[in-house]
Amino acid sequence: MQSPDSHHEIRPIVIGTAGHIDHGKSTLVRALTGVDPDRLKEERERGLTIDLGFAPLELSDGRHVGLVDVPGHERFIRNMVAGATGVDLVVLVVAADDGVMPQTREHLSILEMVGVNRGMVALTKIDMVDEELVELAEEDVRELVEGTFLEGAPVQRVSAHTGEGLDEIKALLEELALAVEPRSAEGVFRMPIQRVFSLKGFGTVVTGIPGSGSVRVGEQVEILPGGKLAKVRGLQAYGETTDIVRAGHSSALNLTDVDHKRLSRGAVIATPGYFRPISMVAARLTALPSLGRPITNRMTVRLHTGTHDARGELVLLDRDEIPPGEEGLVQVRLEEPVVSAPGDRFVLRLLSPVMTLGGGVVLEES
Ligand code: GDP
Repeated sequence: MQSPDSHHEIRPIVIGTAGHIDHGKSTLVRALTGVDPDRLKEERERGLTIDLGFAPLELSDGRHVGLVDVPGHERFIRNMVAGATGVDLVVLVVAADDGVMPQTREHLSILEMVGVNRGMVALTKIDMVDEELVELAEEDVRELVEGTFLEGAPVQRVSAHTGEGLDEIKALLEELALAVEPRSAEGVFRMPIQRVFSLKGFGTVVTGIPGSGSVRVGEQVEILPGGKLAKVRGLQAYGETTDIVRAGHSSALNLTDVDHKRLSRGAVIATPGYFRPISMVAARLTALPSLGRPITNRMTVRLHTGTHDARGELVLLDRDEIPPGEEGLVQVRLEEPVVSAPGDRFVLRLLSPVMTLGGGVVLEES
């Protein structure tokens, strides 16, 4: 095991990427860290790594922060909600030759909805266009981020091909990372499960990012829904063995008394006795500003919260419809129970045609 001040320590800070497809997110992660996000994905699929696929970025003092790249629009949305409590900073990637695109807008709205509040913009592919177009793209970006958490945030021009701007991005990320307050591990332990598998000689392993609290080796946890109890036999945080995992850390729990076949992504591991699954969720919902239509009563929707998504019916409580960019009080009547608590962030999508409607905060359960 590494000592806490070892230069190998992964600072418990996670940087996520966002932005339109093909704007250079994976290429940027690779250029900054030397690690290919696609390789991490493969390793994860083959079970070679049990963390969430972080590419470590070395800070100037030798410490590392984790850079996570989530390829694909659908996966981005699911993972953003799942990792909402785990992503401390975001790099919004906009290609200089393309400018702000629909998914750039949607990702930014989703980041706001899940509560990410710090980050920067990388204006990529500047080697492909002339100065004038870079200027235009930058103006586009400044307009986009107005009124959002990225207003006034650094916009750095970069080319992964020539290397221009890479050092500046590293320096900016370092500055931003050092300013992130350590996350509190107060409160009751709760971790939505991202992955479940069985490891030879160990048994059931679940991974995820705890949203609150901490858990130690030897403690008992409850698995929801279902309420089955299990014991924590071993723990890892960021791929290293440890005797405690806490809110915000990428964690793996080795559990006894439970068959991995009975567990799945979407379930929740928690301190016993505190949470119960619910089917009616009251919430404050904000419609995406870029939505092409109002949100109307009785829409069939999918509620994404934690690592789970559940189908249900949307009931508007205080108005007939919610126009783009506006908010309202709603109730989501779910077909299957979810584990959520007041203050949880969620994203709401229309079932058909599939589109993101908006998101917000859970107010209460009934
Ligand atoms: P992602 O979908 O946002 O992850 O985009 P990728 O990282 O896969 O990049 C999409 C394409 O753009 C690839 O062919 C990259 O080689 C190319 N690309 C990415 N960054 C740059 C850059 O700075 N300059 C140039 N010329 N091409 C780039």
